[in-house]
Amino acid sequence: MPLILITGLPTSGKSTRASQLYDYLTERIASDPSTSSKFRLHLISDQTLSISRSVYDLDPAHTPAHVRSANASEKDARAALYGAVKRVLSPRDIVILDTLNYIKGWRYQLYCEAKNVQTPFGLVQVGCPVTRARGVNEARIRRQEQQQQSTQPSTTDTGATIPTAAAAGAAPKSGDLHPETYQQSHQNWQQKQFEESTTEPDSEEVQLSPTDVQEPYLPRSNWENLVFRYEEPNPMTRWDSPLFILTWNDTPEEARKVFDQIWDEVVVNKPQKLIRANKSTVQRDKDPGGDYLYVLEKETQDIVKRILEQQAEVGEGGTVRLGRSGNGDQEVLEVELPGKKVGLPQLQRYRRAFVGLNRGGIGLEAVGTLAAGRLRESFVGYLNDAFEKEM
Ligand code: ADP
Ligand code: MG
Repeated sequence: MPLILITGLPTSGKSTRASQLYDYLTERIASDPSTSSKFRLHLISDQTLSISRSVYDLDPAHTPAHVRSANASEKDARAALYGAVKRVLSPRDIVILDTLNYIKGWRYQLYCEAKNVQTPFGLVQVGCPVTRARGVNEARIRRQEQQQQSTQPSTTDTGATIPTAAAAGAAPKSGDLHPETYQQSHQNWQQKQFEESTTEPDSEEVQLSPTDVQEPYLPRSNWENLVFRYEEPNPMTRWDSPLFILTWNDTPEEARKVFDQIWDEVVVNKPQKLIRANKSTVQRDKDPGGDYLYVLEKETQDIVKRILEQQAEVGEGGTVRLGRSGNGDQEVLEVELPGKKVGLPQLQRYRRAFVGLNRGGIGLEAVGTLAAGRLRESFVGYLNDAFEKEM
């Protein structure tokens, strides 16, 4: 059963929505006798695997000595999450993965995992203004400081407070300095004031829920870097779709509507996706009609041209739609582009290889020939296979 990823900025309300979705699915499964014995539900998160926020901190200066490097710690965390998903994902298990899921390539990897076990996949993005998400982190930092102060009243500053204008020092007094030195240091002081006032991040005052026990992201640069590194989902790509969006302000009723959609589209009804043409599914026609080699060249050239045209629109990893025959046919073929841009030389290489395979030659048993529609279908299948190996 499906793998549902939750994604969003750090401290944007992902776990809140993930647990609401978990409760919704629990209830929904229990209320339907046809599903209650069939489905098992799992919620996997950084918290359930005891992954600390510090694994995401890229600054080696903040990495504890026993960790190889800041980046390695995140890789280990991802391996743990991946392993946990892989262990349970099956046609009977619904898995909600509540972690940042902020890297496009990582989401792709999980999408492939779902595809491997032939189970549906969906992505839920939790939308939240950056200033509010930052406010949540600030509130958690304040709470942690208060807790530390109450347990160790005499400890010194944790180093976690926001640099304030006061920390930049007082303005130099003109009488203390030589006029030129004064001017210079006054400029420096103004510059410093300016930098600190513009770089001091803006955050909203946020009320943490009374049950909130999560640790903050510290140092603050860890949180800021994650926001900076966040790779927005692109619903045009197959590994970011179907994409469901929830925002902080969505009411329980609104959220429920989205959960209903997830149930319908991802859990029970497998989305009716067009079955992709594959090389092996295409049969050869005995009677091609017209000059076969000419048709082979013409149709494959046409497909290359259309892919290049549409790629600009749908972007990397998008789906290009083509008519099964060049002349306004209703049937549609889909080419799923790889995660990086494909250029003309690469497409021409594939085209030539395909033409080579299909023109019939020495050593090939009596190849039949393909009519234009079958040819196009076959070339699209060939490209899909080639692109799939590429991402
Ligand atoms: P994340 O998992 O993204 O770090 P959480 O779900 O843990 O974020 O939420 C962080 C804090 O914000 C929690 O204290 C939670 O109660 C609060 N919060 C999250 N979403 C909402 C919301 N939609 N409305 C009100 N408070 C929320
Ligand atoms: Mg969380």
